[in-house]
Amino acid sequence: MSKSVRDYIRSIVDFPHEGIIFRDVTTLFADARGFRMAIDQLLTPYAGMRIDKVVGLEARGFIIGGAVAHQLSTGFVPIRKKGKLPGTVISEAYQLEYGEAVMEIHDDALAAGERVLIVDDLLATGGTAGAGITLCRRLGAEVVGCAFIIDLPELGGRRLLEAMDMPVHVLCEFE
Ligand code: 5GP
Repeated sequence: MSKSVRDYIRSIVDFPHEGIIFRDVTTLFADARGFRMAIDQLLTPYAGMRIDKVVGLEARGFIIGGAVAHQLSTGFVPIRKKGKLPGTVISEAYQLEYGEAVMEIHDDALAAGERVLIVDDLLATGGTAGAGITLCRRLGAEVVGCAFIIDLPELGGRRLLEAMDMPVHVLCEFE
């Protein structure tokens, strides 16, 4: 049987901490067939839709977002962790298990009314993507969807994003 996107993802036990299983997408990105399959499948639900910009979440969302934007012939916009973007930014904080994190976008990166697709490698609690949606909306953009390679359904991210009226597209799940 031919390999699915999920089959290209490597699991690394006890990274970055004991007890965590890290889902490693570098093995998917490194494989020509796997990478193309993932990008094609990420785009399936959006065929025929108008998308003006692709927004990628640091850091693996940049790799996916660049390929997706090229495929759609759109521009690409990064959302980065606090302090990394050189221009004037707007910021959005979100809760982590312990403490909080802040994501930022350039304040001129999206125009009001632009239709945006947000991409990242993995959806866990949804905190990162939720902050990304809020940042895009604060600039007046319309987020038409969020697409991820992996969902960890037990962590509830999909519920959080759907409660923000956001259609969520994922290619595979891990427990
Ligand atoms: P969330 O904010 O949904 O809890 O976490 C999602 C973010 O954490 C994503 O940006 C993702 O890249 C990163 N992340 C958390 N766990 C993993 C993992 O096991 N594998 C990968 N590739 N990324 C992870």
